[in-house]
Amino acid sequence: MGETFDFVLKGGTVLNQDGVGVRDVAVRDGRIAAVGAIDAGSAGEVVDCRGLTVLPGVIDSHVHFREPGLTHKEDLESGSRAAVLGGVTAVFEMPNTDPTTTTAAALEDKLGRAVGRMHCDFAFYVGATRENIGDLAELERLPGCCGVKVFMGSSTGSLLVEDDDGVRAILKAIGRRAAFHSEDEYRLRERLAFRIDGDPASHPVWRDAEAALRCTQRLVALARETGKRVHVLHVTTADEIGFLAGHKDVATAEATPSHLTLVAPDCYHRLGTRAQLNPPVRDESHRAAIWRGLAQGVIDTLGSDHSPHTLAEKAHPYPKSHSGMTGVQTLVPVMLDHVAAGRLSIERFVDLTSAGPARVFGLARKGRLAVGYDADLTVVDLARRQTITSAWIASKAAWTPYDGVEVCGWPVGTFVRGAKVMWEGELVTPAQGAAVRFGETLPAGI
Ligand SMILES: [Zn+2]
Repeated sequence: MGETFDFVLKGGTVLNQDGVGVRDVAVRDGRIAAVGAIDAGSAGEVVDCRGLTVLPGVIDSHVHFREPGLTHKEDLESGSRAAVLGGVTAVFEMPNTDPTTTTAAALEDKLGRAVGRMHCDFAFYVGATRENIGDLAELERLPGCCGVKVFMGSSTGSLLVEDDDGVRAILKAIGRRAAFHSEDEYRLRERLAFRIDGDPASHPVWRDAEAALRCTQRLVALARETGKRVHVLHVTTADEIGFLAGHKDVATAEATPSHLTLVAPDCYHRLGTRAQLNPPVRDESHRAAIWRGLAQGVIDTLGSDHSPHTLAEKAHPYPKSHSGMTGVQTLVPVMLDHVAAGRLSIERFVDLTSAGPARVFGLARKGRLAVGYDADLTVVDLARRQTITSAWIASKAAWTPYDGVEVCGWPVGTFVRGAKVMWEGELVTPAQGAAVRFGETLPAGI
């Protein structure tokens, strides 16, 4: 009599720290119980994964789900439904909601809203302000918090700490790695006149590469001065890739599928203000450099920066049009298409979406397809050709910049802590997402 399991994923090509191979994965009590050739006779359910690839659960460490306050754009239920339909098992959500997530009460409120409504696992960033610097050391260690987020350049919402003194005070106050929107606010203000009414192609002229580089240089200098580590979100410039390569001891970096896939000026001609986001999509020289940074390992994580706005909000004439686009549901298919095209390996994709977040954010029991870890699994068909459509998008925003784009590679199943949440495009388990745990904030005795 062999062991009993809740699930056995049978016959899939498993990709984990041991490399690639046809192996079974057994799940019991929400965790991975065995990997290898497994007798599935005593499994509660056998999932036939022949022809499919089983990956460690994809973690999207950068989403905006807009709840509370902006729920006409998105909420925690719809955003997380989009996530699991797209093969994402956990999300880290940003603090620029209304009210902002800048107090313990606001974090508690989000965690309360998430339970029973979110389909994937979750953690929330706490936003830094001038007013809450004294509380950050406590806030960043609260359960369900993935760390502090700082907007050094203004984007959607009111959160902004643009000056060196403010950022220095934040870095001195905290212990964990903080995440930064890095665009130099002073330069953005100086260059407002570069925006051309009605022309979103002027967006990267206004928010130019120099604004991003200057801010990242200031940030890294402050990290070095204070002895802290920083995570630079959505890197968009060749200049920053080169700079960050020299500072990997203090700085990790994120790239987004949007900046790896879209390119100026084509995207602005094709998509108009739908291509508008912060920091902006730039020209081919920058896109190629982000790919080089990704290939060379300068980039540590992929985040979708899922930042939904309604089509009506996107349709205001530039620059009144809102910055941001959906992305949590398309992260996996868009990046698998890049894998199929040979732009990155599937191993690198896994590194960026599971091992990378685990390393950068200090995850407990996630980010690795190994015995004892949470059974978070993303099952994909690397050969499936399918067309992304806005009709498929579960976000309340209900649109994607990839509408009509055929990709090779598609998410087939999403398992969250052993629960089969999505299979072949259908939600098959009620929402039971839970807070992600972090090594640095685990309570004693667990
Ligand atoms: Zn963002």
